[in-house]
Amino acid sequence: MYSLAFSILFVSFIILTLIVRFWLASRHIRHVLTHRGAVPAEFAEKIPLAAHQKAADYTVARTKFGLLTLLVNTLVLVGFTLLGGLQWLSIEVFKLTGGGMGYQLALLAAFALISGAIDLPFDYYKQFGLEQRFGFNKMTRGLFFADMVKGVLLGAAIGLPLVWVVLTLMEKSGDLWWFYAWLVWSGFQLLMMVLFPTVIAPLFNKFTPLEDQSLKSRIEGLMKRVGFASKGLFVMDGSKRSAHGNAYFSGFGANKRIVFFDTLLSRLQPQEIEAVLAHELGHFKLKHIIKRIAMMFAISLAFLALLGYLKTQLWFYTGLGVDPLLPPGQRNDAMVLLLFMLALPVFTFLFSPLTSIGSRKHEFEADAFAAKHTDARDLVSALVKMYEDNASTLTPDPLHSAFYDSHPPASVRIRHLNAAPA
Ligand SMILES: [Zn+2]
Repeated sequence: MYSLAFSILFVSFIILTLIVRFWLASRHIRHVLTHRGAVPAEFAEKIPLAAHQKAADYTVARTKFGLLTLLVNTLVLVGFTLLGGLQWLSIEVFKLTGGGMGYQLALLAAFALISGAIDLPFDYYKQFGLEQRFGFNKMTRGLFFADMVKGVLLGAAIGLPLVWVVLTLMEKSGDLWWFYAWLVWSGFQLLMMVLFPTVIAPLFNKFTPLEDQSLKSRIEGLMKRVGFASKGLFVMDGSKRSAHGNAYFSGFGANKRIVFFDTLLSRLQPQEIEAVLAHELGHFKLKHIIKRIAMMFAISLAFLALLGYLKTQLWFYTGLGVDPLLPPGQRNDAMVLLLFMLALPVFTFLFSPLTSIGSRKHEFEADAFAAKHTDARDLVSALVKMYEDNASTLTPDPLHSAFYDSHPPASVRIRHLNAAPA
C-alpha cells in the first residue's frame, strides 16, 4: 500500500519537474529570441550586434540541448527504477560475483559505467557539436577520450574505497551508521578540497606560476590591501579545452591558490583582472566559502539521517521497483544508496531557487567588495567582456534566471556596480 503511494508520489514529482523545466525553458527561449534583434540599450556601445545574436543563438541551442538530455535522463531514471532496471542489474551482478562486499561494490561500479556510457554520446555531441559550432571547442578527440579514461580511473581509485568504508559502516556500526557515514563524508569533502588543487586538477591541466611581473605586483598589492595571504598565483592552460574564460580560487588554509585561465588573462586588461580577483577575494573575505561549506555539511547530515530512516522502510525499495529481498540472503546496502541517489533530485529540484537566492546575494556582496577595493568601472568592463566572450545572454527570462542562475543577470549586476560609491 505504502509502496504504491510512494510510486505515485515519485511519478508525480517526475512529471511536475518535467512540466516546470519545459515551461521555464520555453519562456527562456522565447524571451531571448524576442530580444535578439537589438543589443539592450545599456550595452549598445560595448557589445556589437553580431556578438549579441551569437549569444542568443548559443543560449537557445544550449537550452534545447538541455531539454533533450532532460528527456533522456528521465527515461533512464524510470528505466532503472519503476521498469526494473536496477533489479535486473543486481541479479546479474549477483550471479557473476556470488554476493558479499564484492557484489555490492560491483553493483555500484556497473551502475556508474552504464550511466557513464549513456551520457557519453551527449557529452561528445556537446563538445564537438554544440561548443564546436559556436567556436568554443578547443579539444581534440584524443584529449576528450584521454580525459574520459582518466576520469573513470580516478573515479574508481577515489570512489571505490569511499563506498567500501560507507558500506562497511552500514553493515557494522548499528543504527547510527548514517551519522558515522556523515563524519566520513565530511572528512572526505575536506580532504578533496586539499587534494583537488594540488593533486587532481594537475592531472588534467598544467598550472604555471604567474610570470607577468607587473600584473603580479598589482595583484600582490590588492591582496595586501584586503589582508589576504595566498601560496600562489597560477595560470591554467584552459585554452587546450575551451575558449571560455574564468578565474577561481581553490584550497583553504595555507593551501589557498588563485587560478586564472589563460583565456581570461589574454582578454582582460591588468586593472580588469585585478577587479575580477577582488570579487573572488570578496567571497573569501566575506566568509561566503566557509558558509557554503557549513551549509553543505548541514544539508548532507539531514539527507543522511533521512537515508538512515529510508534504509529500513520496505516501501522505499518496492515503491521504486526493487525487491529488497533479492538477491536472496544478501545485504543490499549498495542498492539503497543507488535508489536514494536517483530519487533525491526528483524531490529536491523544485527547491533549487532557494540555493540560487543565497548565491545571488553573495554575488552582490562580492561585487560591492570589489567596488570598494578596486574601481567598479573595471569590474563592469571585465564583466561585459566575459559575457561577450562566453556568449552569455544579456536578456535571460527573469523567471528562468531566478530559478537556475547562481549569478544575477548582467544588467542587474552592472546597475548595482554603477550605483556603487566611487
Ligand atoms: Zn562570484
